[in-house]
Amino acid sequence: MLGTQNNTVVDASASNDDAAAASNSVVLFGKYEILKLLGVGASGKVYHARRVDTGESVAIKAVSKRHLDGRDGYAYAAQIEREISIMRRMRHPHTVRLFEVLATKAKIYYVMEYAAGGELLRRVSADGRMTENLARRYFQQLISAVAYCHSHGVFHRDLKLENLLVDENMDLKVTDFGLSAGRSQVGSDGLLHTVCGTPAYVAPEILAKKGYRGVSVDIWSCGVILFTLVAGYLPFNDYNITLLYRKIYRGQFRYPKWVSSEFKHLVSRLLDRDPETRITIDEIMKDPWFCRGGYKYPTRVMPELDEDHVVVKDLNAFDLISFSSGFDISGLMTHSEYLNCVERFVSKEKPERILERVKGMVGKVERVVVRKDENAIIGVKLEGLDGNFVIAVRIYRLMSELVVIEVKRKEKKVGGGNFWRTLLRPLLLELALLHESAPK
Ligand code: ADP
Repeated sequence: MLGTQNNTVVDASASNDDAAAASNSVVLFGKYEILKLLGVGASGKVYHARRVDTGESVAIKAVSKRHLDGRDGYAYAAQIEREISIMRRMRHPHTVRLFEVLATKAKIYYVMEYAAGGELLRRVSADGRMTENLARRYFQQLISAVAYCHSHGVFHRDLKLENLLVDENMDLKVTDFGLSAGRSQVGSDGLLHTVCGTPAYVAPEILAKKGYRGVSVDIWSCGVILFTLVAGYLPFNDYNITLLYRKIYRGQFRYPKWVSSEFKHLVSRLLDRDPETRITIDEIMKDPWFCRGGYKYPTRVMPELDEDHVVVKDLNAFDLISFSSGFDISGLMTHSEYLNCVERFVSKEKPERILERVKGMVGKVERVVVRKDENAIIGVKLEGLDGNFVIAVRIYRLMSELVVIEVKRKEKKVGGGNFWRTLLRPLLLELALLHESAPK
């Protein structure tokens, strides 16, 4: 994927892309001109860039794929896929949009909407706070974004001031869905179980480790955000994490003397220690402090994202894996041993059934053996006894009913591909709904 500009071009095999990106004249994938480093987050660096063809500003987050080499590679890949699918579903004027995802051997690039105003935190006055009226405006936009996410079964779970950006009109943009959880992580008891989030914003029920609801946890964090914007300090804070957790658990905080009683009332409902009685989004939207001065839902909320539409999109999520160049993460699970050829098939069959069919077929062929694939959660390795090929067949779950069968082959150029062409590939095509031949 080489660009044609005169500038430095980063191609898909560049390993020093970070260093290159730090200079002023880099074009990523021939498409995005890197302008400057915006910030460094927990997972990677974020750059301001410009689309070469349209001049449109974007933000690009570069995340290393280094972690994929380790034992947790599959979990990490799954997390990235989840993050992508969640961000793709979100289209709201107050959430940062994900335009596309690109990958090199070393990195994944998330191309996102650019929030020109930077962090909301920079909008506070010298004493670190804002007026109740200004805070209300941002809080209304935050609640509108959170309501939208929740209505699509998506919980942020890491809402904090650092994740609130503003655009050129000083309107809010919620970002950083790295720790988001879709419905898939809701346990059989209907509760979420992963402990996550940032200490000062963590709800008491998360600390209790008894399972929690994404909805109430996000509402708690919104309470911490609102309090902090107006007070200029966090409601719960302590250098000692145990003491901090104790304060959160007990709901111990003090209001500054300049806040209104209506504000206090709303905050006390947001920071209610009991998730069962904590205020709901609907109640927030009727709260007197929230409604003061009127509140209009943004008109640009995309109505097309109803549940059915999401399902269709999810089915099309195969383009996450490859079909669309925009979501080309084909290098994501590259294993050096099997670089020669990769093909992927999307199937509705059960993983066990697929393996059964593959093994059954191999059993009828002489001079081919089935071995365990140590690197796969679900998969097998097929080897030609003449040493002419090794084929790894791995199965990943894409959506609730869909799996990706990924086949990596290392074969001799002459005479190595017979088994694949005449037997295995036709079988997989039979099992597949979609098929992709990845570039060699
Ligand atoms: P991480 O999730 O890895 O911690 P962040 O998403 O917090 O990274 O990004 C790091 C910094 O980059 C942010 O604090 C912010 O200043 C900047 N940034 C992130 N996304 C955008 C964006 N879409 N537009 C403008 N700046 C951004």
